[in-house]
Amino acid sequence: MIDMIKTPTVQQEGAIQFEYLPDGRGLLRPHVLIVCEGCSKEALVRADGSRRFCSKSCSTLIQHAEGRSRQLSGIEHYAWKGANAQYQALHMRVARARGRADHCEWRATAGCKSRKLEWSHVHETDPSVPQNYRSLCKTCHQRYDSQTGADHANAKLTALQVELIRQRYKAGGTSQQALADEYGVSQSAISRITRRRHYR
Ligand SMILES: [Zn+2]
Ligand SMILES: [Zn+2]
Ligand SMILES: [Zn+2]
Repeated sequence: MIDMIKTPTVQQEGAIQFEYLPDGRGLLRPHVLIVCEGCSKEALVRADGSRRFCSKSCSTLIQHAEGRSRQLSGIEHYAWKGANAQYQALHMRVARARGRADHCEWRATAGCKSRKLEWSHVHETDPSVPQNYRSLCKTCHQRYDSQTGADHANAKLTALQVELIRQRYKAGGTSQQALADEYGVSQSAISRITRRRHYR
């Protein structure tokens, strides 16, 4: 049935929008927009998969982190799941209400060049309201967050993000500053995390 669709197309089924895109063998398969549980980026993934991750590497990292979280006490596990679920839910709400971030609202004045576009929470507003997000490029988003102290939903790192930061730093190839930029925190915060101070 699915394979009979010959050109990329979009089909709506309730709240879920399927985009038919070619898979590795050139067959059109339904894809859905998700927010990756690992890196929190939006991604179009195969609808017949787990719909949780943007890539194999995010999947591997999280499966590993989840293995660890199962060893936590009941209440810790609950908190770990809850923080992550809440963060995902906020992002999905914005994506559902407004689609994907498709331009940088500050481009004309900022002269920025990044083609990575993201919803950026307007600080000191309710993060559960989709209108309280701006469409910005990654550069402007990070600059805004670091200037204003990053109070948005992502500011306080979840246990999952802390785990990912540790693993990525340990694996090598990613500097503390790069991780700090990516997660919108200071390099000293990353340093503390990798030395296992402050964060559990
Ligand atoms: Zn990812
Ligand atoms: Zn932000
Ligand atoms: Zn920009």
